[in-house]
Amino acid sequence: MATIKDNLQQVQNRIALACKAAQREPGSVRLLVVSKTFPGSDLRETHAAGVRCFGENYVQEGLAKIAELQDLRHELEWHMIGPLQGNKTRPVAEAFDWVHSVDRLKIAQRLSEQRPAHLAPLNVCLQVNISGEVSKSGLSPEELPEVARQVANLPRLRLRGLMAIPEPGGDLEAQRQPHRALAALLTSLRAQLQAPGQMLDTLSMGMSADLEAAIAEGATMVRVGSAIFGQRPRIAAN
Ligand SMILES: *Cc1c(COP(=O)(O)O)cnc(C)c1O
Repeated sequence: MATIKDNLQQVQNRIALACKAAQREPGSVRLLVVSKTFPGSDLRETHAAGVRCFGENYVQEGLAKIAELQDLRHELEWHMIGPLQGNKTRPVAEAFDWVHSVDRLKIAQRLSEQRPAHLAPLNVCLQVNISGEVSKSGLSPEELPEVARQVANLPRLRLRGLMAIPEPGGDLEAQRQPHRALAALLTSLRAQLQAPGQMLDTLSMGMSADLEAAIAEGATMVRVGSAIFGQRPRIAAN
């Protein structure tokens, strides 16, 4: 049976090949290991194989794992990638390093207000509903520029870029289209926004099934779960 370490190696090979095909530097794509529903022991195994970035979807589960792996806290980066409710922003602002799923201004304002002063600004991506997104969360491309302008000015956040979860399926060419659209939105945001301290260096797109398409279109962070840990057990929503 394939181990987590074998699977991880395979995913890293896929990333390297996709970078080569796109004539991109292998180091230009970061692997975010999506660990939702998997136990802390699996995360430790992945950490031992060299992984430093973990993505979690559910606030309570993510907080529990951050606590469980507290001894490694200084080495790890924790990314919230699931939908966020207004009443759950505080622990996220206090415990995570990144939030990829900011989909309205109100959430960003709360995260900024609640980000503790002794921590670095919270890195955020705006989630865009690029192709009738599976989760149906995300800003429309039309409302994105104005929300981005306001988020970029929030003092305790650092707007890093955009995230999307395109509809699954289709061949490589079909998969590339929504990723290309997200990349184009980031390019135009870069031209429009000149808030100081904003980096806009991140395209969070590509998962187990479509990371090649995402990398071909410029992904800088791919979020991969099942290709590393295997099929997730079915779980109820948040
Ligand atoms: C679960 C999840 C992933 C990982 O999906 P896989 O298909 O298991 O790689 C990536 N991004 C988000 C937002 C997710 O919820």
